[in-house]
Amino acid sequence: MAMMLSRRRLLILYSLAYQLLLPSSAFTASSHPGCRLHCGKATARTTCMNSAAAAETSSKDDEAYYDLVVIGGGIGGMATAITVAKHQQPHAKKILLIESEPSVGGRVRSDFTDDGFILDRGFAVFIEAYPQSQQMLDYDALRLNKFLPGARVKLRNKEKLAAVSDPFRRRRDIIKAITSPVGSLRDKANLLPLFFTVITKDIQSLFDDEAETDTLSCLRSYNFSEEFISSFFAPFLEGIYLTPLSKQSSKMFYFVMKMFTVGSAALPMGGMQSVSDQLGQKAQDLGVEIKLNSRVLSIQQHLRQEEQHSTSMIAKDDAFSVIVGKREQDEQRHINAKSVVVATDYNVARNLLQDIPGLESLKSLPKLSQRSVGCIYYAFQSPAPLEEPILLLNGEGHERRNTKEFPVNNICFPSIVHKSYAPDGYELCCVSLLENAISEHDEDQASLDMAVRKQLSAWFPGFASDIIDESKWVTKGFYLISNAQPTQFNEEGCANVHGGRDCDAFQGLAMPDGMFLAGDHMATATFNGALESGVNAGDAVNSFLSKK
Ligand SMILES: Cc1cc2nc3c(=O)[nH]c(=O)nc-3n(C[C@H](O)[C@H](O)[C@H](O)COP(=O)(O)OP(=O)(O)OC[C@H]3O[C@@H](n4cnc5c(N)ncnc54)[C@H](O)[C@@H]3O)c2cc1C
Repeated sequence: MAMMLSRRRLLILYSLAYQLLLPSSAFTASSHPGCRLHCGKATARTTCMNSAAAAETSSKDDEAYYDLVVIGGGIGGMATAITVAKHQQPHAKKILLIESEPSVGGRVRSDFTDDGFILDRGFAVFIEAYPQSQQMLDYDALRLNKFLPGARVKLRNKEKLAAVSDPFRRRRDIIKAITSPVGSLRDKANLLPLFFTVITKDIQSLFDDEAETDTLSCLRSYNFSEEFISSFFAPFLEGIYLTPLSKQSSKMFYFVMKMFTVGSAALPMGGMQSVSDQLGQKAQDLGVEIKLNSRVLSIQQHLRQEEQHSTSMIAKDDAFSVIVGKREQDEQRHINAKSVVVATDYNVARNLLQDIPGLESLKSLPKLSQRSVGCIYYAFQSPAPLEEPILLLNGEGHERRNTKEFPVNNICFPSIVHKSYAPDGYELCCVSLLENAISEHDEDQASLDMAVRKQLSAWFPGFASDIIDESKWVTKGFYLISNAQPTQFNEEGCANVHGGRDCDAFQGLAMPDGMFLAGDHMATATFNGALESGVNAGDAVNSFLSKK
């Protein structure tokens, strides 16, 4: 399946097709605060960034020179650019960030429909407790709305949604937590030592102290019943890891549990894109030049003879040339840089680096497995079947989750969490689909759509006729994301390193002086890990440039 999906290098957007099918009277474009621009296309995006600075092209960069070129405008690359620009005093150093896509954010992006819906590219939440997010982002400006702690769970043969409450964060939910049909009393008692561990240990100790195993074995070591694991932990954690519990690191499990126990999950005003836009704007305000729609094709290292009669070669002061092509054009530009940070995903980094002298052995390095995920968005007139801002998990058991007939893993109504996701009078439903269900349907959108509608109409019988009716619950977007996360368990180079790996080496191979790596594969496969890796690379660049 991973291989099938990896043929699609980027996510596939079908929103436009659905928009064209949408009766014009069904949803009208409305100007609401979360959607800042209507640009006439269903998959339009908007940005608050200064478009003059985030230029698509610039003639002046032929043979241009920079102190730092960052390759990749995801969260990791932007964190690098900000870290360097801040340290060096704004505008003191020339910093260029090159991004191949039309907007910054990488895997944290959103699409904006003409009629006022915001579709994050795959279901994602903003986790307030991430230490790096707290350092780098202005939470007030994001105007975050929190999810309720805990979850609702659809249990098998139970029409009413069950509650999993978190009495540590909402004391008044203690009775609800004890009486919930999800998990036995013994399971609830077994949660106490788990919570004790994640609350009392700091993140680094959780990574260092706890022996690494797979998450399923770890849960079994707490004596949770198989039923509790399959009705709660499996849909919750697999929706985050995008892989079965038996294939996920217990270190990441503790980390995720800590983050969800000490803080809230939230959605920002204007979708997840506004998080990326805030970082992009911050970088620009600090003088970073951002070049969009520009793909780095290769990197060359300039070498010169150290002394006339010596055979040793050392790097020149402007040590690297970054060769950039414009999207869908043959034109190429050379950009010279003293230092370069490769902040793409693992597999792109491996390809870009393998022609650098000394790194040729990367050619024979296997690709790092990537985890894929899908999601379908439905738009419909209010009310929503679940009017609480909370995650809804499929707790019907492994036979009725992530399968052909029962594809849904979890759902959420983003517009209930943050009104900016839908225009007045309408709601948005986001259904998350995992690899097995997608593969069982041969990635066929219509077939998945039909199975999802059938499953949801059984969950919400009072809404069944609307859910089945494509003119009432309108399919707004369908996303398959092949490289959603790098693997985090049992593979060389997997992304489960809190604090990040050394950014001057890739798979044990030392980078040339002045070249560094960032990206979630260098830390943990999370928003926090991407930021952390970017800060690490930024610190390394600062130290490198200060010696020049
Ligand atoms: C659907 C989904 C949901 C998620 N949900 C969560 C969540 O709830 N919480 C959480 O913590 N994490 C979540 N994640 C993971 C998190 O989003 C990622 O770990 C993080 O965004 C990775 O950032 P990055 O900068 O390392 O990589 P990327 O975002 O992949 O950035 C790399 C950038 O490099 C660019 N690029 C690639 N090649 C080139 C080239 N040759 N030239 C120029 N540019 C290039 C790419 O276009 C991209 O913008 C989710 C991921 C997905 C896909």
